[in-house]
Amino acid sequence: MRGVLILSGGVDSTTLLYKMLSDGYEVAAITFNYAQRHKKEIDCAKTIAERLHITHRVVDLSSLASLLGDSALLGGKEVPSCHYTEEAAKKTVVPNRNMIMLSVAAGYAEAHEIPEVFYAAHKNDSTIYPDCRLEFVSALRPAIRLATAWHPVELQAPFVDMSKAEIVRLGIALQVPYELTWSCYRGKERPCRTCPTCIEREEAFALNGRRDPLVDEGN
Ligand SMILES: [Zn+2]
Repeated sequence: MRGVLILSGGVDSTTLLYKMLSDGYEVAAITFNYAQRHKKEIDCAKTIAERLHITHRVVDLSSLASLLGDSALLGGKEVPSCHYTEEAAKKTVVPNRNMIMLSVAAGYAEAHEIPEVFYAAHKNDSTIYPDCRLEFVSALRPAIRLATAWHPVELQAPFVDMSKAEIVRLGIALQVPYELTWSCYRGKERPCRTCPTCIEREEAFALNGRRDPLVDEGN
């Protein structure tokens, strides 16, 4: 089995990578530089891919940033210091990000005759970001199949009904090295522990009776 995985370097996609390898997949990972403020996650993705000796491509989409508005993730608006709320989600959304990345990943898969593309959208994200919802996955799946008809590519989002805490539970069982992952939108040396993704990440570990290893390292 072969699959292309969109690997951000965060908790969810890294857990999915370990799950795919555990399920017997040969994984080709693809990471996008979309001029995100937290570029550190790209280095994390590289480190993880190197450790696992998997094929890994970093794709530069940074020139798109100027088209995509003033998202906090692109250095426009301030990164909010609060739990995910509708307002915080609007500040951190990168318009149509997953559709853009999945289109590129599906093209890469088709070109290399790799039959599946995976991304790690999950239930927490689906309440705030439209391109993480089951409806989006269900609509895009046949569109990708139609667009890649000579070497059909199937879209897979196995975490779409799982919470982040459930993903971390799976990852603990798979011995995912979470100390190598990165989530914080501020992308400084240490996690800020106040942005929405830091709060969500720490909560996911706490719900499993664990501490986030990045926080444990001395924050
Ligand atoms: Zn943070």
